[in-house]
Amino acid sequence: MAGIRTVGVIGAGQMGSGIAHVVALGGYEVLLHDVSPDRITASRELIGRNLTRQVSREIITPQEMEAAQARIQAAPELQVVGAADLVIEAATESEEVKKSIFRALSPHLGPNTLLASNTSSISITRLAAATDRPERFIGLHFMNPVPLMKLVEIIRGIATDAPTYETAVNFARSLGKTTANAEDFPAFIVNRVLVPMINEAIYTLYEGVGTVEAIDTAMKLGANHPMGPLELGDFIGLDTVLSIMNVLYEGLADSKYRPCPLLTKYVEAGWLGRKAGRGFYDYRGETPVPTR
Ligand code: NAD
Repeated sequence: MAGIRTVGVIGAGQMGSGIAHVVALGGYEVLLHDVSPDRITASRELIGRNLTRQVSREIITPQEMEAAQARIQAAPELQVVGAADLVIEAATESEEVKKSIFRALSPHLGPNTLLASNTSSISITRLAAATDRPERFIGLHFMNPVPLMKLVEIIRGIATDAPTYETAVNFARSLGKTTANAEDFPAFIVNRVLVPMINEAIYTLYEGVGTVEAIDTAMKLGANHPMGPLELGDFIGLDTVLSIMNVLYEGLADSKYRPCPLLTKYVEAGWLGRKAGRGFYDYRGETPVPTR
């Protein structure tokens, strides 16, 4: 895509890894940063495993895999990411963490570099205001797992200019994704609808209406969902689910969005779902076992 050759990805967790994967396969150079260097190493290994799976399924060729891997460069120092034409932030879902990243990054950016956040719920306008370029800031919300999911939600902040929007849409399309525009309101479209459903499933468990298994089976077979809501919460990460509920609760000032106390308890226990080995299911054995 004209104008964008190098893409910085900040946060090498579940989403940053997926984004780096599809961006590198799309032919862009990637600078991958994380506050923890171990996460960058783990992320490159994960990307390698996922690319190998795509080769074995004949979705990509071994040459495409090799070329994509060669395009991903570790950037343990944040300032190195400043050389990118577009920076996509995919760090932990916390407004303070994200703002501090943008504040630290701003002095190292070229004048035309575009900034994007993969936030699931936080105001793009507020994040943009923490940078030196609110007009060149946009929400690019990829879905998990990024290599498989077709959608990218595009969220313009109040100051986002038209060229930034057009570049962002064309960039997402160049990765083979379909875009949907969402206004900058808490949690945008997908998570405004999806996350309260997951929270409601947790209330259903909390109130004893059903067991973990009954709730997930009921929603898979009764609503034709590919994953049950508790399994999906574990997949997203329960810390992320809780942050999104808090953003909805505070941002819309409506008690219908109050996070379920059981969700808070799981997060306090560090039972964050798949990435922690335990959430509503225990993933440490051969097959997931419900934890309640
Ligand atoms: P994750 O916990 O897997 O990864 C977050 C990464 O950010 C970690 O590797 C952490 O070390 C890193 N990090 C924390 N502070 C940092 C800092 N100051 N500088 C650099 N790196 C830092 O979380 P995730 O699921 O990948 O979520 C990342 C973002 O993507 C969040 O904003 C989340 O809301 C969003 N998102 C998540 C999903 C999902 O299903 N999990 C879907 C769409 C969007």
